[in-house]
Amino acid sequence: MSHAAPKLNAFPVFLKVEGQVVAIVGEGEEALAKARLIGQSAAALRIVAAEPEAALAAFIAGHGAVHIRSAYAPEHIEGAAMVFAASGDAGLDARISADARRLGIPVNAVDRPDLCDFFTPALVNRAPVAVAIGTEGAGPVLAQMIRARVDRMLSPSLGPLAALAATFRDAAEKLLPKGAARRRFWNEFFAGAPARAMETGEVSLAHDAAAKLLAVDAPVRGHIALVGAGPGAEDLLTLRAQRLLMEADAIVHDALVPEAVVAMGRRDAERLPVGKRKGCHSKSQDEINALLVRLGREGRRVVRLKGGDPLVFGRAGEEMAALRQAGISYEVVPGVTAAFAAAADFELPLTLRGVTSSLVFTTGHDLKGGTLPDWARLAISGATVAVYMGRSVAADVAGRLIEAGLSPDTAVAIVENASLAGRRRFHGTLADLPSLSGRGDLSGPVMTIIGDAVAGANFDRSEPLAAHRHRHAAPAAQGVFS
Ligand code: SAH
Repeated sequence: MSHAAPKLNAFPVFLKVEGQVVAIVGEGEEALAKARLIGQSAAALRIVAAEPEAALAAFIAGHGAVHIRSAYAPEHIEGAAMVFAASGDAGLDARISADARRLGIPVNAVDRPDLCDFFTPALVNRAPVAVAIGTEGAGPVLAQMIRARVDRMLSPSLGPLAALAATFRDAAEKLLPKGAARRRFWNEFFAGAPARAMETGEVSLAHDAAAKLLAVDAPVRGHIALVGAGPGAEDLLTLRAQRLLMEADAIVHDALVPEAVVAMGRRDAERLPVGKRKGCHSKSQDEINALLVRLGREGRRVVRLKGGDPLVFGRAGEEMAALRQAGISYEVVPGVTAAFAAAADFELPLTLRGVTSSLVFTTGHDLKGGTLPDWARLAISGATVAVYMGRSVAADVAGRLIEAGLSPDTAVAIVENASLAGRRRFHGTLADLPSLSGRGDLSGPVMTIIGDAVAGANFDRSEPLAAHRHRHAAPAAQGVFS
């Protein structure tokens, strides 16, 4: 025999309040909280408060609520569709509740469940769409936590999109046979081109895209989102990245993107690792471009997940060009780039008033030639330099910059695995930097930041770079940190 599912003691419904009065009795914070909640609906608010606190008075004025400025009397709640007893006074709340029940009006008394006919939910409002969360008083904190989670999942443009959907309902019913064709239309409407246009605020484009979908044989269009996965910590994803991951039906990701981030994708999304880590089989850039084009042609919703920001040393340029050439729609979602994560881990100001006002992102791989690249001149004139993929070229970077006139004492900060639990921080000077390439104890990605602003960082949790050099290389020069 199967166990019966637990029963709800309070059943959620959506009450029509447009054109109705909702009465709230109270002068303070509780009354204001209920006024704010009901103020999200089209109900007319009637607030009974002899001496409202300033914030409540401001709300009443700002929302054009009807204000009854006198001590509570039963006639104040007559004709209301709902009553809130929020006076803060147990005796008065009990009276209000009894009056409401006598008048046949559902009542809620704040923090007094026995006086309540209904409870108010935690609300995610994307009017006309609403998600109401109730816990039957088990935990308002729990309800708020769930609310925050649901809120993150739903695009701010969901409301206007749902409103647009309502205007297409008749046409869809008339033009599309019931069943698969109609389902496909609505799937595409809420997750395809109309949704994407609404996302960027292009209402008429959304309308046109939906109209196009109405043709029974309209092709399903694929879409590729080039998404920045951030430096590794999964809570450094953007809300947009997270939402797209949850909607994706294929996720194409580099090896640098940690499993925890990829795991935030829809459970039944196909996962396509494309390598780019030493020792793994990895696809060439051309193969990756071709894969994205193929998935787009198949009508799939793809997230192309890249470490950090997709437009910083991410070869997104080539992928975008291939998609553009193939006529496949795509978008770019920015991410937290490694330099920003490393700076945050070091509490390092990348720009510093009076010290440096420019910032260079480089790989240092262009230092091998005879001429000095422009960024080296910027470094000498005081820019903060963030070096990506700089481990193997550390000696070249240090050597050429010193040769060009940057002081060997210039401060250097290094972070391995920025943003991740196992991160390591190192500090030192430009003179210490060459030791980086020879270190066997660092296996994660490494970010190097060079410049006078580095001196403003917090070195409490970092190891001296020179310590390693002392043990394994030539005797140390005296740097600012030694
Ligand atoms: N698009 C990425 C960079 C890709 S290049 C971004 O915007 O961050 C790869 C290089 O980024 C690595 O060699 C390393 O220098 C740096 N990097 C990426 N993640 C890192 C991390 N968590 N910590 C330190 N450096 C990182």
